[in-house]
Amino acid sequence: MLAVEYVIPCASGTVAIELALRGLKVGPGDEVLLSAYDFKGNFQNILTIGAVPVLVDIGERDWQLDAADLTAAVTARTKAILVSHLHGGMVAMPAVMEFAREHELPVIEDACQMPGAIVGGRPAGTWGDVGVWSFGGSKLLTAGRGGLLYTNRADIAQRVHLYAHRGNESYPLSELQAAVLLPQLDALERRNAIRATNARQLRDLLLTITGLHPLTESLTDSQPGYYKFGLQFETALWDGLTRDRFAQAMRAEGIALDAGFRSLHRIHSARRFRTASLLREADRADEQVLTLHHPILLTESPAELQQIVTAAKKIRDHAAEVAHPKGGCL
Ligand SMILES: *Cc1c(COP(=O)(O)O)cnc(C)c1O
Repeated sequence: MLAVEYVIPCASGTVAIELALRGLKVGPGDEVLLSAYDFKGNFQNILTIGAVPVLVDIGERDWQLDAADLTAAVTARTKAILVSHLHGGMVAMPAVMEFAREHELPVIEDACQMPGAIVGGRPAGTWGDVGVWSFGGSKLLTAGRGGLLYTNRADIAQRVHLYAHRGNESYPLSELQAAVLLPQLDALERRNAIRATNARQLRDLLLTITGLHPLTESLTDSQPGYYKFGLQFETALWDGLTRDRFAQAMRAEGIALDAGFRSLHRIHSARRFRTASLLREADRADEQVLTLHHPILLTESPAELQQIVTAAKKIRDHAAEVAHPKGGCL
């Protein structure tokens, strides 16, 4: 499926990212570029090894790392770029790789949210120097915990082995976990295809809801994975209803909808990171990302997708009342 030279299973996606950074010899004082809207553990991994996260803004319609914003962020201290494909969106890898080549920087590609996805004609995680998967509890492939790192570079694999096998395995994925994963791996391609078809369908259905925009896809020849299906909640168009109150009302209707990540610059002291941007879109994402959890996207019944839209319409039609309930419930 990946067609890569070296595959190293480990304890979690978080550990895999840490090992990838170590495999690239990122160390104290080095800078790593990453999106200001990303998984918190990625930021913390950079701090763990003594490096400095440098935050880059995201694109306006897809809310993925904006390759055009890398130029402002790069310095002589930059040692690596870390990109994550999030919420069914895809980072523009051709542009990122062009920038990386120009500056001779390695790229870690976090595909934890989309194992088996195709991004611009290639398996997610194989554009970069190192790719990473997670087998965490709620992920598309799960062993309760676990992760995977893959690369075509022998030097990276060798250095990662030094950390991951210190006499015994230091960050192991157990045989028992692997046994749980194998049948899931067999089903992955088929399930990804079903999820992608349903995601397309859902996108079309959601066009009827004002103020709710699925993240756009920027790359052709792709089939994203959907650990979460991401949406932009355009706060100004909801009669005072907040994103969080909307998500709560949707959950009351039985829809597994949640707020997304917090943007990294908003939950960490400015002493911990550097940025060269205003992070305007990351500010918006912090307040407006909604994520739909993946199980619904395996449905074989169009009626179940319609239920999501019906619930959103109902809340939309009563937005002011939901925002300011008169002592009653929804
Ligand atoms: C889940 C996730 C991780 C980390 O995976 P764990 O196995 O939970 O440590 C890393 N990056 C992203 C984007 C994720 O969604």
